[in-house]
Amino acid sequence: MKEQDKTTASDSEIREAARMILAAHYPIALTGAGMSVESGIPPFRGPGGLWTKYGEPPMNGFQRFLADPKKAWEDRVSSRSNELMQPLSVAKPNAGHLALAELERLGVLRFVITQNIDDLHRQAGQKTLAEIHGNWKLIRCLDCTRRFKREEITLEVLPPKCPQCGGLLKSDTVSFGEPIPVDVLNQCAKHSARADLVIVAGTSATVYPAAGFALEVKQRGGALIEVNLYESEITNYCDLSLRGTSAVVLPRLVSAIAEMRRAAMS
Ligand SMILES: [Zn+2]
Repeated sequence: MKEQDKTTASDSEIREAARMILAAHYPIALTGAGMSVESGIPPFRGPGGLWTKYGEPPMNGFQRFLADPKKAWEDRVSSRSNELMQPLSVAKPNAGHLALAELERLGVLRFVITQNIDDLHRQAGQKTLAEIHGNWKLIRCLDCTRRFKREEITLEVLPPKCPQCGGLLKSDTVSFGEPIPVDVLNQCAKHSARADLVIVAGTSATVYPAAGFALEVKQRGGALIEVNLYESEITNYCDLSLRGTSAVVLPRLVSAIAEMRRAAMS
């Protein structure tokens, strides 16, 4: 059975979710690996997972980077690392990514917090976004936190230096043992403090700090709507669970929201 055939969210559940989202003052979304998997990016763990195949990265990856940035950069530009990046470089945003971007254009969705590093929310056109674990296409200065596109940085001498401040550059992807960049955390805190509803899509929301932002909204009396094929650890906290893939459920949700808005205006 194909993943999309397992969708079970009913039309009335979709309409109920649409009503809740339209009634909310500041809806945001929290997204995770499930959305990447739907774009053909293998998960890290489990059968067929990248780490299952290549081995888990060291838990002290950040400390190793700091201890020998030149070696870390040499590994990064090696062929093995390119092989790991291959699924990311061919992945395209799916209908779920496009639906969230559409919700933003409609003025409904205010912010997206993603745990994904795949750049697909940006490619779908999402403008207000925090990539809590970084973006694999970007390079970040550890000193001034400025992000650069890869083509802006010359890799002739490793490790490369920040064109802005001369600081140490690293992949924007957050390594094990590396603190989440403070500017990203601040953005998440600012938007989740205003949020009264969170759409939790493609994530069991068990990885902190991302999970904390959703649960904090719930604790303040806000609502959580889960979009996931399977029950997860966060299901018990959710006001409504829409079973199905993001690529199927989120476009249905957008249609229902657009329809209700049209009906309200006519
Ligand atoms: Zn810098």
